[in-house]
Amino acid sequence: MSTIFGPVHSRRFGVSLGIDLSSSGKQCNFDCLYCELSPMQAITHQKSITPVGEILKDLKESLLKHPSIDVITLTANGEPTMYPFLDELIESIDSIKGDIQTLILSNSASLSDEKIAATLLKLDQVKLSLDAATPDIFRKIDRPADGININEIIGAIQHFSQAYTGKLFIEILFVRGLNDTLEEVAALNRALQNVRCERIDIGTIDRPPAYPVSGLEFNELYALSQHFDPTLPIHIVSRTHATATPSSFSKDDILTTLDKRPLTSDDINALFDETSKKEFQNLLNEGKITQVERSNIVFYLPFENSERKRPKIAQKS
Ligand code: SF4
Repeated sequence: MSTIFGPVHSRRFGVSLGIDLSSSGKQCNFDCLYCELSPMQAITHQKSITPVGEILKDLKESLLKHPSIDVITLTANGEPTMYPFLDELIESIDSIKGDIQTLILSNSASLSDEKIAATLLKLDQVKLSLDAATPDIFRKIDRPADGININEIIGAIQHFSQAYTGKLFIEILFVRGLNDTLEEVAALNRALQNVRCERIDIGTIDRPPAYPVSGLEFNELYALSQHFDPTLPIHIVSRTHATATPSSFSKDDILTTLDKRPLTSDDINALFDETSKKEFQNLLNEGKITQVERSNIVFYLPFENSERKRPKIAQKS
């Protein structure tokens, strides 16, 4: 079985070739309620391990077939940082990848392990999940293996973000009735204040989950996004099935909304009715709204605050 999949086109990360570091089946230190894989008790070590040589052989063959890719994504049927030869694998990939970026999609659970954190520093891009910031909600949503502690994870994310020189993304996945409260968002806000990152993607369930839980509608995600600190680079990950209820926005409403939270064209299509979209276009034509690109995503914001927004991103570059 090949350990490589794709290429797949990701709006957030570009054209990606994926490496599955647990191709024999699910091996994860979480058992998230929303997982698209089958439910399975969380474990702390991989039992079925693919040799580095086999992965590299598959990758070289795939790169010959698909030379025009943007990113090699380390992922797994489970948690990729549980792969015991991750450091060796990343160094081997670096020796053959040329200009292609490397990315890992991690649930953050192993980041407090200093060796793993040092390994992730070698990647061009890192995406870390943080679904909750309070112990109770964290245990309910992510159902971690024994000994995994959310306060340690938060400290490790903050520490990693200060040392890392690549592009760091945080992802929060909202589950109805669990982490979608103002209390949990306040706790996430506090946790994220000391995290330097490119973007914080907030999303919800978009594939059949392992357990009977449900996601939020776009408007609910948008309402939650308003409770995050305006300096945080929040990006709502639009889901095609999410029901949008377009509303009427005056010119002032549009400028105020964008001042509080820059929006993407997907957000605008979901939130604004047809008249409001025309007003938005007029403001854009008049130069009162401008656009900035952050790691493949275009955000719109008032021209006047284009210099002062996103201080956390500005610090990083
Ligand atoms: S961390 Fe990922 S693979 Fe592991 S249980 Fe959660 S969603 Fe599934």
